[in-house]
Amino acid sequence: MKKFIIKTLGCKVNQYESEAIAQYLKESGLMESNSGPAINGEDTKFYIVNTCAVTQKASMQSRQAVRQAIRSNPNARIIVTGCYAQTEPDEIKKIKGVHYIIGHSDKHKIPEMIISEKEKDPPYPKTICRDICNEHNFKQVPVITYGNRTRPFLKIQDGCNSFCTYCIVPYARGRSRSMPSESVLVNIKKLKEAGYHEVVLSGIHLGCYGLDLSPETSLFLLLSRIHESQAINRIRLSSIEPLELTEDIIKLVAKPGSVCHHFHIPLQSGDDLILKRMHRPYTSSFFRKLVRTIHELIPDAGIGVDTLIGFPGETDEAFGNTYSLIAELPVSYLHVFPFSHRQKTPASQYPDKVPSSIIKARCQEMRELGNLKKIEFYRKMIDRKVEVLIEEKSNYSTGFLKGITSNYVPVFVSGKDNLKNTIVNVRIEKLNNNNSVFGTICR
Ligand code: SF4
Repeated sequence: MKKFIIKTLGCKVNQYESEAIAQYLKESGLMESNSGPAINGEDTKFYIVNTCAVTQKASMQSRQAVRQAIRSNPNARIIVTGCYAQTEPDEIKKIKGVHYIIGHSDKHKIPEMIISEKEKDPPYPKTICRDICNEHNFKQVPVITYGNRTRPFLKIQDGCNSFCTYCIVPYARGRSRSMPSESVLVNIKKLKEAGYHEVVLSGIHLGCYGLDLSPETSLFLLLSRIHESQAINRIRLSSIEPLELTEDIIKLVAKPGSVCHHFHIPLQSGDDLILKRMHRPYTSSFFRKLVRTIHELIPDAGIGVDTLIGFPGETDEAFGNTYSLIAELPVSYLHVFPFSHRQKTPASQYPDKVPSSIIKARCQEMRELGNLKKIEFYRKMIDRKVEVLIEEKSNYSTGFLKGITSNYVPVFVSGKDNLKNTIVNVRIEKLNNNNSVFGTICR
């Protein structure tokens, strides 16, 4: 009996890819097992570590995960893939006990590699790590994967052409590549048939969707087709860059239909000089206008924003510009990331490094602002009747079901467990410990 374990680090796209590998292996008769050692000596176990390299810390955690896999499963075949494998294969070779190092171009071949492997075939490690920048085709494991989420991710785009000065992703994921629109619609239709009500469209640089396809298309055109086909109740967009969140897309989302009233937009900095040094192609006034346009056309929209704090050269004034920009805008939540030097990125060589104690203090200040913005947004939901997709059965301690609104507000309600994965109408009644709201199911 062949068994496998998958340990995943990093973003939605990495998680989606791990789920697809797991799905394919399970559909091929393999068993997903826990991280403990093989019970029966005959069992061959494959331990896949799908790594991340977005920060120094993520790379360190990836190395730790590989070592942990080797320690806890000394007889398993250790397969290391993902962004750390793609960018630092030589570092992984230094870890004794690894059998395969597989780059992104060949990640989709891992299931077949496991299924066809008959016996051990030293010497190890075997490294298949092609230059990802030569990759022009969107590749994926040929399964419709659901994972164990009520709101499955669907990866429709990979790679990035932007080269922001702090980011390793373009070196790890290569150039932007898109899933053909027909395949996107087929995947969504199958997810709907499988009983799902919401799909989260994911990518490394989602806004570049379709620009590489022939004939060229775009995220707006794809969303329009999904909208017209009414393929599923809800489509949620994962992160989308400011310049690519066009007025067309906002107006389409504003129409009654399937695209959720939720945008997650990476701002990174509210200071124009820092944005320039980050190689971010917009200004703070462009961002201000964008958020105001969203709010005007979709007043209840959930607007989440990423900020990167402590970029080299970020003075008190520059930080103040980021803080005040967020403070004045109808933003509903923040993700705050401390800048970390990433080798092989231009910013790692920049002077004027900000001391980590200052980065820490500024991040704290931003997170406090983010909390205030979130509570303010949740308060505006009180007394409103909204649709909620119930995601989780009743929590053991509270006995409440948990769900999510179109504009990304977590809601707790009383109700039977069989409401899981259904959309119900809820009247929002009050804040629930500042991290969610509480409501009552109504007609
Ligand atoms: S847009 Fe910038 S931050 Fe985002 S993945 Fe591309 S290079 Fe990285």
